[in-house]
Amino acid sequence: MLVDAHCHLYGFTDKELKEFKGLVIASVGEDLESSMRNISLSKKYGWVKPFVGIHPWNIEDYSEEEFKAVETLIREGEVAGIGEVGLDKRLGKKWEKQVELFERFCSLAAELNLPLNIHALDAWREAFHILQKYSIKRALFHWYTGPQDLLKDIEGAGYYISINPSVKIQPKHRAILEKADLEVILTESDGPYNYKGLRLNPLMINDLVKEIASVKDVSYDEVSRIVSRNFERLLYNP
Ligand SMILES: [Zn+2]
Repeated sequence: MLVDAHCHLYGFTDKELKEFKGLVIASVGEDLESSMRNISLSKKYGWVKPFVGIHPWNIEDYSEEEFKAVETLIREGEVAGIGEVGLDKRLGKKWEKQVELFERFCSLAAELNLPLNIHALDAWREAFHILQKYSIKRALFHWYTGPQDLLKDIEGAGYYISINPSVKIQPKHRAILEKADLEVILTESDGPYNYKGLRLNPLMINDLVKEIASVKDVSYDEVSRIVSRNFERLLYNP
């Protein structure tokens, strides 16, 4: 089983979605509309795991009404988890409001025992501390480019990081792959985001698993097995 632990499936056409059969994909939301779309996609395709949330990039645009509607989706129990939520220091604005929104989602995750799919660009430690404050059990730091010394805290807390196909061209991310233990690693595409001309999509996961196997000097099957197990743990906490 190939895993895409962080993808924006609502950004793809129906024709493209059909090509993704054979993967298991966590589709994260960025606002109410995309969150609702993830839930409807999960009803159509059994391999879609729907996450709902409000992305920190929407910090200036969302309304309290929208937050409440997303909260209702979470409470209705049809979601696999909460995301894409988090913090982004590179945004350079509304930091306190970002923290407040992220804490509201953490509080819901703690109350309902749901996993979090997190964006924490340049705010890795801050996000980690908030997770600890809310005694969060399950969380994924997507496209991790944070401090290497935080990796052991992430592992100790039972959280995960995801490795993106950009690992081939982003030295900082590659250094993380070299350093991180397979026990904390998940695979993701973040599709259809365009990174330096690379239109990311779930079909890149196969090559990504090969890349991880080569860096870690283990077999393709071994990487695939460990990543699948990590994903099960993130989703269901067995
Ligand atoms: Zn994303």
